[in-house]
Amino acid sequence: MFAHLHCHFFGSYSDSLLSPERDVPRLAEMGFRAVAITDHGEIAFAYPFFRACRSAGIRPVIGCEVYFVAAAAEAIARHDDYRNHLVLLAKDNRGFLNLVRLLNAAWIENNFGESRGLVDFALLERFHEGLIALSACFWGSIPQKFLTGGREEMEKEHRRFREIFGDDLHPEVARHGIADEEKANAALLELSRRQGLKPVLTNDCHYFRPEDWAAHDALIKTRFGFPTSFAIDSREYWVKSEEEMRALGLPAACCDNAWAVAEQCSVDLDALPPLEASGDFAPEREAVFAAGLNVIEGRQALADAAGARGEDEEETGRALELIPPGATIEEAVRGSAALRSYFEERPGLKEIARKLEGVPRSSEPDLARAVAAPLAAVRELLPVKRMEGEVMLQYPGAVAESLQVPWLPAARLEERSVAFAARIGSLRLFRLGRECYRSRRYAEAAERFGASAAADPSRLDARYFRGLCLYSLKRYREAIAEFSGLEAGGYNRRRMGRVLALIGWAHRKLGDNAAARAAWERALLSQKNYPPLHYALGTLSFYEGDRCSAANSMRTFLALAPEGRNAERARALLRRIERGSR
Ligand SMILES: [Zn+2]
Ligand SMILES: [Zn+2]
Repeated sequence: MFAHLHCHFFGSYSDSLLSPERDVPRLAEMGFRAVAITDHGEIAFAYPFFRACRSAGIRPVIGCEVYFVAAAAEAIARHDDYRNHLVLLAKDNRGFLNLVRLLNAAWIENNFGESRGLVDFALLERFHEGLIALSACFWGSIPQKFLTGGREEMEKEHRRFREIFGDDLHPEVARHGIADEEKANAALLELSRRQGLKPVLTNDCHYFRPEDWAAHDALIKTRFGFPTSFAIDSREYWVKSEEEMRALGLPAACCDNAWAVAEQCSVDLDALPPLEASGDFAPEREAVFAAGLNVIEGRQALADAAGARGEDEEETGRALELIPPGATIEEAVRGSAALRSYFEERPGLKEIARKLEGVPRSSEPDLARAVAAPLAAVRELLPVKRMEGEVMLQYPGAVAESLQVPWLPAARLEERSVAFAARIGSLRLFRLGRECYRSRRYAEAAERFGASAAADPSRLDARYFRGLCLYSLKRYREAIAEFSGLEAGGYNRRRMGRVLALIGWAHRKLGDNAAARAAWERALLSQKNYPPLHYALGTLSFYEGDRCSAANSMRTFLALAPEGRNAERARALLRRIERGSR
């Protein structure tokens, strides 16, 4: 027997097409008797998954692929984005509650730029009871120690985990056709032989069928709301059958071990205690919002599918007009001959867009209602996370309702605290701004973002987006002022590359090439792998007649983003330089 112990469902927001309701019954039809859910960094879909497994008659294994660093506080202080993966599975309800508390500590105390919570050795020591650990994909810290430091480093790392998890630690091997993964496999299998460990075979499942890879690719390319050249290293992330898993050529015992691990897990989410409503608390520190899901609808699905494939923006824009808001792609196609012929001219596009429909892109605080209990009580029972400066439940609203979570209208909390009301008012304005921004009403958006930042000066995101609006409106001087404020205010490092690139472009538009170069070179100090910076410097050097620097920048750019935006232009420029020098 075999069981999939490493599956990403909808709660791996923007990284999986697997739906618990639709795909768990399909897994049962394939003959699986158990399956795990291991979403990235949270367990938002644990209940829908658990219920789907129960009704399909297969064993639910509830887990999470967490973000791991050795010491979270240090990584956060260094703004160090590096992290590894680690798969944790709950053996029983005690393990499940430990997983909840571990994730909550990661999201609240070890929050990294609101994008993830970090798990470290200290948290594992506190919360490991009832949990099984797998070394994860080759981004796990045990395989990575081997890949970067060799066998001894790997063994040292393995020992640290082993001291915490004992026999509940298993090396994880997988075969997706990646060279580093094969090196890690060999090392992990060898370690297992020497130490008598029980390695498990997994497939990192992100979609159901092999041909779904293209829709998954479109999903991850558009995760930030605009198309990027981001791509993953393999197309092997579908739900493979037991035969396919056994045919991968890794030791058969690894399949049996995976089944044995699944058999050790019997969580009963229906038996967990409910959360009691509890009176007074200070909303500015203790409020927990409900979660709202951003689900991809028809129009957005086409925008993302077309954007990811690099379809012409104007033609996409015209096709989008043919999809009424709220309509599905099929409904729109039935009602529009023009849309039908648009899709006929672009084979495969409709299929990708349809697979994106209904996929939750993200979750965010539902500002209408909060849990009628303080964070200190909530975090003992329910998983939370931090988004947009607020703490919110991981479980989507409908799931929380099915658990009878007690609610309070957020307005009641706003009456209690002026500071809280200002913060939430600022967030509402921010969201209004974002809506205007998405429909390209930049002047209106800039105003809303400005008001949002005025209501809560710590909301740097509002100033970031206001800067983007000003730039789009060609108000370059104001954009530079807004962006420079962000740089001074210690804004999100992950966005600083883009901010500095835009400061440079704004200077360039104003004709100040020296200031543009200074901004781009400053950006390179912290973002040396951000492709647009190299492209920008390349075009500027070319313009200034320094062909040698221009060629170097363009080559770096193309090495980083060979198929990205502007790659064709970069190649053309390189050809011109090379012709010129002959
Ligand atoms: Zn992973
Ligand atoms: Zn994974």
